[in-house]
Amino acid sequence: MPGTLIHGGMLVDVERRASTATDLLIRDGVIADIGEPGAVPMGSDDERYDATGMFVAPGFVDIHTHVFDHGLFRTTRLAADRVGVEQGVACLVDAGSAGAVTIDAFPRVVHQSQATPVFALVNIGSPGLPNLGGGHSSRPELVSLEATVRAIERHRGWVRGVKVQASASHTGDFGMTAVRLARKAAELTGLPLMAHIGNAPPVLDDVLDLLRPGDIVTHAYHGKVGGALTFGDRVLPALHAAVERGVVIDIGHGRSSFSFATCERALAEGLPVHTISTDIHRGNLDRHVVSLARTMSKLMLLGLTLEEVVAAVTIEPARALRLDADGFGRLDVSQPAHVTVFRVREEPIALEDSEGEVRTAPRWIDPQSVFVRGERYDRTAAV
Ligand SMILES: [Zn+2]
Repeated sequence: MPGTLIHGGMLVDVERRASTATDLLIRDGVIADIGEPGAVPMGSDDERYDATGMFVAPGFVDIHTHVFDHGLFRTTRLAADRVGVEQGVACLVDAGSAGAVTIDAFPRVVHQSQATPVFALVNIGSPGLPNLGGGHSSRPELVSLEATVRAIERHRGWVRGVKVQASASHTGDFGMTAVRLARKAAELTGLPLMAHIGNAPPVLDDVLDLLRPGDIVTHAYHGKVGGALTFGDRVLPALHAAVERGVVIDIGHGRSSFSFATCERALAEGLPVHTISTDIHRGNLDRHVVSLARTMSKLMLLGLTLEEVVAAVTIEPARALRLDADGFGRLDVSQPAHVTVFRVREEPIALEDSEGEVRTAPRWIDPQSVFVRGERYDRTAAV
């Protein structure tokens, strides 16, 4: 099979948070060579990808999506490729669309038809997130520690963690018990817990206190009452303590879960953005979220550097969910060739957060192509 030489681009070094002009050769699905421009020898049938004026990065990873394309799951009925390879994203994690009693359908409705690699977190609520009208999917009779652990054991390869909706909207007043059971399922399987935070109860301080190093808080900078900010717009002490302990801070933008103002305050107090994710699903694809690239552009607008936002969709999520073992997160010779090639458009764009606040950014990220195990997909969906 002929290889592809990606020539003339700026390679983003996600460890050092710096970019350097570099050529990269892909052959037989792996990265065959990386070197200075013009110094990587090409074979006679290798194709040349002209990346002049572009950036070359490890394949982008979105660790909070809903792409469980199942008939009973109206909101999550989204083909993974639509927000994966068609938007320049190399890897998705479905964050708890399916639970113990629905996860067995995942290979059929996702893996068998989609080119984008998709991993999953199992929801502690056994049904996951079906739209069956009313009710909470994590109410007591629907949560089973045993069923959750067994489901993870059945699908060890692609299940990478446990998800809990620590929010009154999903768990009613059962919230803290659901979080405790989810934490236990994570402990018993040696996987991280991703806690969705939102409306109280449960109170955020209580949820954060249960999280251990390596666990993930998603929707970390939502703008609802009782979130990251406390009285006087100070960051909640329990959130500072969680970060110091090694809890991962994830964006999880969504329709109602990312506030420019909250995130800005948190950054000003030295809080991090470890991972950038979208919480994209059928209901926020056309407005609010749109794409991972757009979410990255919002964080750039708030002051993160280009290299920091790229690290937050590559090496950081890969470490958080151990996707580095599958070749995600870094560009290394002999490793699977998961690569995103993108432009930074130096032109103004209006960006809207989940609170309806619109800010104008001077530049935005525009993925051109993504390579998954060396296979090239050019971006076809709007970002
Ligand atoms: Zn979600």
